[in-house]
Amino acid sequence: MSGYFSPKYRELSPYVPGEQPKDRKYVKLNTNESPFPPSPLALEYAARALADLNLYSDPDCTELRRRIALTYGVTPDCVICGNGSDDILSFAFQAFCDGETPAVFADITYGFYRVFAARERIPVRIIPLKDGFRIDPADYHNAEGTVFIANPNAPTGIALTVGEIEGILKSNEKNVVVIDEAYVDFDAESCVPLIKKYRNLLVTQTFSKSRSLAGGRLGFGIADPGLIRDLDTVRCSINPYNVNAVTQAAGVGTLSDGEYTAENCKKIIKTRAYLTDRLASLGFRLTDSSANFVFAKHESIGGDVLCAKLREKGVLVRRFDTERIRDHLRITVGSDEQTEKLLCAIGEIL
Ligand SMILES: *Cc1c(COP(=O)(O)O)cnc(C)c1O
Repeated sequence: MSGYFSPKYRELSPYVPGEQPKDRKYVKLNTNESPFPPSPLALEYAARALADLNLYSDPDCTELRRRIALTYGVTPDCVICGNGSDDILSFAFQAFCDGETPAVFADITYGFYRVFAARERIPVRIIPLKDGFRIDPADYHNAEGTVFIANPNAPTGIALTVGEIEGILKSNEKNVVVIDEAYVDFDAESCVPLIKKYRNLLVTQTFSKSRSLAGGRLGFGIADPGLIRDLDTVRCSINPYNVNAVTQAAGVGTLSDGEYTAENCKKIIKTRAYLTDRLASLGFRLTDSSANFVFAKHESIGGDVLCAKLREKGVLVRRFDTERIRDHLRITVGSDEQTEKLLCAIGEIL
């Protein structure tokens, strides 16, 4: 730390992303990217956008928001786009939390929530997951703060039903409820249809997981136009060009090719079932995942040892060094070939 660093940030521990190593070729199952390339239409649209890079990107993401609205059956004034959904989540912490309105979230969930809250000096109320890493919806009724729930949750993969979330929305009329649907396309129910009924609901989604565009950095939020306007005030006070022109074009291309995304999600869901069975027969206990990863703990080998040995064998998985889950591995569901390599490496280690 230099002597110039503002005291307001000296205690900040930044979010640590999963590694993107370049030292050798790994079977990369540590950051929940898609194993499939972007849609051919995404590449075609992005290539065309390159010619206009001398111009600023559209600060309103007009065409992209129109396509997202069309896809989800809402109007464009219900949509905001971001540089990844992390961008939207960050705006939400700024717009809807403060000293009087804490952020309310689970002890085991997306690690960035803690960092956003710390950065904004927002008090937090942490709600422990129940046995089996389940969220009890009743814990979030009358939350007296802004609620953040990843659904399906990360890194557990366990999803709540829309009915359970509706109960949370009903009892929190005075607070915003943010449902982070980064993994919803892998078999969970989306809450987007509820935005017409609940003005306190913000749903965030991303192109990083199901849509093969992690490196493009594209996410979006869907909510009642009132919430979207607040988020937009924050966004345009930071960087109105938060989504670059090539990514906007790639996003439009991806949405024009809905079938490609749907097919890829189907493949991942199928592979997830296969991987779950195989890991169970190798002595792992797994949660019931509705995401593009599994969350698994071996009956006799510690998470740190297993993670390190897999790395030696060229397979990267994610492990979190937190009390309750230190023996668990979060393993991305990859291609069939990646999955066989993973299972082969685990077989050798055992
Ligand atoms: C990956 C992820 C995000 C954000 O991804 P972006 O790449 O920023 O869109 C948000 N929430 C959860 C739970 C995630 O796993």
